Amino acid sequence: MVADKASDSPNEQNEDKLDVLKSTQTVVQTALDKLGYPEEVFDLLKEPVRMMTVRIPVRMDDDSIKIFTGYRAQHNDAVGPTKGGVRFHPDVTEKEVKALSIWMSLKAGIVDLPYGGGKGGIVCDPREMSFRELEGLSRGYVRAISQIVGPTKDIPAPDVFTNPQIMAWMMDEYSRIDEFNNPGFITGKPIVLGGSHGRESATAKGVTICIDEAVKKKGISVKGSRVVIQGFGNAGSFLAKFLNDQGAKIVGISDAYGGLHDPDGLDIDYLLDRRDSFGTVTKLFEDTISNEELLELDCDILVPAAVENQITEENADKINASIIVEAANGPTTLEATRILSERGILLVPDVLASAGGVTVSYFEWVQNNQGYYWTEEEIEEKLYKVMVKGFNNVYNTAETRKIDMRLAAYMVGVRKMAEAARFRGWI
Ligand code: NAD
Repeated sequence: MVADKASDSPNEQNEDKLDVLKSTQTVVQTALDKLGYPEEVFDLLKEPVRMMTVRIPVRMDDDSIKIFTGYRAQHNDAVGPTKGGVRFHPDVTEKEVKALSIWMSLKAGIVDLPYGGGKGGIVCDPREMSFRELEGLSRGYVRAISQIVGPTKDIPAPDVFTNPQIMAWMMDEYSRIDEFNNPGFITGKPIVLGGSHGRESATAKGVTICIDEAVKKKGISVKGSRVVIQGFGNAGSFLAKFLNDQGAKIVGISDAYGGLHDPDGLDIDYLLDRRDSFGTVTKLFEDTISNEELLELDCDILVPAAVENQITEENADKINASIIVEAANGPTTLEATRILSERGILLVPDVLASAGGVTVSYFEWVQNNQGYYWTEEEIEEKLYKVMVKGFNNVYNTAETRKIDMRLAAYMVGVRKMAEAARFRGWI
């Protein structure tokens, strides 16, 4: 078991269940135990090898100076440089960034990339900031973490509330520090700055591929199935578009402010047209439902594509889907995973389902390094092969070992870094 003492009050117990770092550590430890690794391996992998906290002063539009807190976690660099997104969100915490970096290591292991996991975050609300303030914050963050990142050390990317423009500012700032144009420092860039075709929609493409594989296992088809998607940002909106184009009926979508529901299917093209760059669209409508109600809607496929801890023991038995595919990182607690598995709901976990983003980020980095760029078709073909292989590896491990897909994914994901650390003589 994870070393911390058992909590005594119900409140503490509840907090423990929502503690994404603790629950990640629990599954990592179970996966390592099942694979027969000794305790030292867990001791190495339970926390990032490096964690940097920075304070970033930014001159705001009213000429005041505001100090923001940011983090960069590098989980494990045994396999190769660390890699992972930067999140701008008011709820970012050190623990969350650590857990996110471990999930990135697992993803890289599952889809077999030459990386370890990294992650960054800044406590801020970009929806309340001007373009100029966001530029100052993005550049300040890069200056603050510049000593520990770089194209052969740790490669950032977009995540919640960050986008190609923010990647462009960060790349430009790093290039100034490094004194040469260095596109391989960051991925998710605009195409004109060395970005990759297919990167913006890569996470959603990867989720779509997992959904295609999952429906085959359940003997249903995407065409005609009813889908609910929580979150209408980068992952959720592209996914809604892809599934809608495949003939699925998107009966519910949501953003941070609420959800929209239509049992006959929402007009996705219209919603895509009206959403803003932060994935907000529901503010334009009066007849909305809550995010809690959205998750309980009757559907075939439910895709959480927003934030952590959305499906918990409180609502797991009210979920009305036969397949859940986690586009978001950490949307389901461990207790809820157990309840859903007992109910026979097929849950495709985040570390597999959302690995399309880091896979195409890897393709972007390879293209930057080789200076030769692939077409969108070439990227899609490569992504398809990687995701299908990852899905089948995890699915077959779950079937053979008679375990849920989350534990199977952790077993597949953790093995490569444990082996790399062993060969290096670290453990
Ligand atoms: P985004 O910022 O583009 O969109 C986030 C969406 O979630 C928005 O619609 C926002 O309104 C909504 N949201 C925010 N807070 C919410 C809340 N409390 N309740 C309900 N909805 C809320 O972010 P994204 O890039 O689409 O990321 C979404 C999830 O997918 C995150 O968990 C992220 O870590 C994960 N992910 C993203 C990528 C990527 O490449 N973008 C890759 C892998 C995983």
